[in-house]
Amino acid sequence: MGFIKGCRPFLGLDGCHLKGKHKGITLSATSIDANNCLFPVAFAIVKSECGDSWKWFMENLYSSIGEIRGLAFMSDKDKGLEAAIPLMFPSAEHKTCVRHLYQNFKKKYPGELFERLIWNCANSYNTPSFQWHLREIKSASSNAATYLEGLTAQAWSRSQFTPNARIGYVTNNISKSFNAWINKTRQMPIVEMVETIRHKIMERIDHRRALGRKWRGKLVPKALKYVQTIVKDIGEYIVRRSSDVMAEVAGPDFTIVVRLDERTCTCRAWQVTGLPCIHAAAFITRIRGLDICDFVDEVYSLQKFRDTYASSIAPMPSKGFRSISILFNDPQSFPTALLKKPNTVVPFSSAATSNTGSKRGNSANRPQPPPIGKPNKGSGPQHNSSNEGDNKNTADEKVNNNGKN
Ligand SMILES: [Zn+2]
Repeated sequence: MGFIKGCRPFLGLDGCHLKGKHKGITLSATSIDANNCLFPVAFAIVKSECGDSWKWFMENLYSSIGEIRGLAFMSDKDKGLEAAIPLMFPSAEHKTCVRHLYQNFKKKYPGELFERLIWNCANSYNTPSFQWHLREIKSASSNAATYLEGLTAQAWSRSQFTPNARIGYVTNNISKSFNAWINKTRQMPIVEMVETIRHKIMERIDHRRALGRKWRGKLVPKALKYVQTIVKDIGEYIVRRSSDVMAEVAGPDFTIVVRLDERTCTCRAWQVTGLPCIHAAAFITRIRGLDICDFVDEVYSLQKFRDTYASSIAPMPSKGFRSISILFNDPQSFPTALLKKPNTVVPFSSAATSNTGSKRGNSANRPQPPPIGKPNKGSGPQHNSSNEGDNKNTADEKVNNNGKN
């Protein structure tokens, strides 16, 4: 429910091997909240990762979330997943983790030059910038460029991303963060593992609901920090107004067009991420009376964050108490198989409520979208290229979306 109400329509999918004597694989679907932290949506334990497993997982995922407008998946193209997604979500966007793509690419075309250029291609928000870097690859190896051009069915560059999900991540770091978050449970017996993960999710939601009550203002902290950072870097841009809502914004090497009424910039960073790019920021801040925070997409609003964590995971009694039925304010959040006698209350059940939170109420690099036709340093709104793909990230750490380590 929190995913539907408050998260961006984005799900990272991944499989992760268990370490206990029973072996098996954890399949997971992980989204991202308004503050760019992971939000676990679904997980399952399966015997092996294969087409049937993913198909079963996606069927159950669909039965839980239904059709989501503008839904986008990110994956490592795990075995069987590529076919399973369109079966249940035929209109969803499917992005490929560029880290995974590069692992395959470098088997044929190793070297630092190709590595740098691949990431530049991936981080390009617009086609001219993507093509510029691709031509660099072509000048080094026409076969390498042909290889990449053949991946047309895989969206791995921001220039290929639609604006629907408001997310510019080019790696599946969100799923890797989930795997790291549950790492200590992977050697547990299956039931204990599932229970431990359930506890972690339950407490995480409660903790973040409390954060939502404490925070003030319109935007979540990471979005606010982004805005405060980007306005410091607008000095080198020249704004030539065409009207109240249109302007040319010229940087050192190129000129682009910003439209405030459509919330677009020809660099496409604003559309893809939902955060005003440096060009938009330069225009907005030169207009008296405008607040740049008003031009940040609502997916980064504090209200969306609170909506995400408004519902609770209901507590579950220990095994000996499970024949006793429980009255929950939100029975949907409790495994129905355990509700044998509805409307009977056990003493501690009053704590199991939902929708209570709404009544009460970290990206360090300079955020700059890539230029058109100029090498891309891999920075951009809502991103910090230094952390993406770092499996040491904990779930409470920021999940950054851009570039390589
Ligand atoms: Zn721009």
